[in-house]
Amino acid sequence: MELLRTTRDLRTRTDAWRDAGAGVGLVPTMGALHGGHRSLIRRARAENDRVVVTVFVNPLQFGPGEDRDRYPRDEAADVAVCEREGVDVVWAPAVEEVYPPGVELPAPDPGPVGSVFEGEARPGHFVGVLTVVHRLFDVSGRCRAYFGEKDAQQLFLVRRMAAAEPGLGIQVVACPTVRDPDGLALSSRNRLLGDEERAQATCLFLALTEATERARSGERDPGVLVAVMAREIGATPLARLDYAAVVDESTFERAVTIDAPSRAIVAARFPAARLIDNLSLPAPAG
Ligand code: AMP
Repeated sequence: MELLRTTRDLRTRTDAWRDAGAGVGLVPTMGALHGGHRSLIRRARAENDRVVVTVFVNPLQFGPGEDRDRYPRDEAADVAVCEREGVDVVWAPAVEEVYPPGVELPAPDPGPVGSVFEGEARPGHFVGVLTVVHRLFDVSGRCRAYFGEKDAQQLFLVRRMAAAEPGLGIQVVACPTVRDPDGLALSSRNRLLGDEERAQATCLFLALTEATERARSGERDPGVLVAVMAREIGATPLARLDYAAVVDESTFERAVTIDAPSRAIVAARFPAARLIDNLSLPAPAG
């Protein structure tokens, strides 16, 4: 396995692979790799001849006062995980390599979906996400790119960007959320939680599962599901509800009914970290 730092080295490698007829899988991450990242890497490993994992804590997607400085970083551990998973290249660039001073990079417009839910809580976040992902796609060249459903709004926007720019040659592959045994979605931020916070962090999954159960047993009113989720998170002492919503999968707008494929999404602030999660809602039985 190689550890590369420059855009030029990465592009030289992926071009050589493609010229030799190899298919390339790309797994973009911000490091502090956990079982969720590993599942993306394994899927990429299974579906491609060559696999690149990128590790880059993107400054553009953090707002002022957010946790960029506290964001967990451990490059040596990340490299070891990638080595064990049979990754071909880890690309861990410096900020100036991704954003060369004086160069204006495309900043794709997330549109209205970019300023609701995560975008409302974190102004500018999705412009930052799409800018870095576009840059990664540009540098990597034609490939399959693996993203987690854990970040459903991000996945929606990245998919839409890739579809709008077929010239990028990117096929986006969505991967299911990996959870701890008690249901908490794995996240690099989980390691910031104290014991009591960690215990109470299951409220996101509990809220989502309750909504799922209601939908399965025939509830079609998104307002009822939202109320159920808000109550569960609201009853958790260390959690402060940011939002609970049901969105239409095809638009990521608030659903008016859950007859079309829909997803329940939640965000909550704990003292040490802000957590998000989501579950796709089952079609009502009968
Ligand atoms: P991050 O390092 O948090 O930017 O995440 C990198 C990629 O891993 C994103 O596509 C995430 O959606 C995905 N990811 C993060 N956590 C999980 C998880 N628990 N299960 C599946 N994918 C995940």
